[in-house]
Amino acid sequence: MKHRAIYPGSFDPPTFGHLDIIERGAGLYDELIVAIGSNSEKAPYLPVEQRKAALSECVQKWPNVRVETFNGLLVDFATQHQAMVLLRGLRAISDYDYEFRIALANRRLNPQIETVFLIATEEFSFLASSVVREVARLGGNYQQFVPEPVAKLIANRQV
Ligand code: ADP
Repeated sequence: MKHRAIYPGSFDPPTFGHLDIIERGAGLYDELIVAIGSNSEKAPYLPVEQRKAALSECVQKWPNVRVETFNGLLVDFATQHQAMVLLRGLRAISDYDYEFRIALANRRLNPQIETVFLIATEEFSFLASSVVREVARLGGNYQQFVPEPVAKLIANRQV
């Protein structure tokens, strides 16, 4: 049986921290689907199709990784794709409370699906999409935090 995992998130925008989790996840599972959630009520920073295109370009070097978007419940998306693992990254302890609640809710919704956490690589443990958005807004060097296709999108972003 193929072991397939889903790495869900907003990826708004994708960062080197996300790519680190993707690379490590690609090494652990036969297939990894990066799933961009488009449920959020709030207006996105980058349109979901742009996030998908940029991430797809970034993951080309890993043949067992692909990028999809999803609406609705994550556990339903996982079931549709026959994935038994939800992969998430943990940075500081401040991530824990939120991740713990989501993981337990997802377990109630589907006890067969496990959430697996990878501890962030130290180098990227401070890095969050919100940091990138704020640095870009204030005119700082956000390019150091994101892969090139994402930097281009931020530079050309319509506000
Ligand atoms: P969400 O909005 O669903 O929390 P994010 O796009 O912010 O989605 O993050 C997706 C996942 O990636 C989360 O599990 C988050 O903790 C993890 N993550 C984000 N940035 C990093 C990083 N720098 N290092 C490791 N994991 C990260």
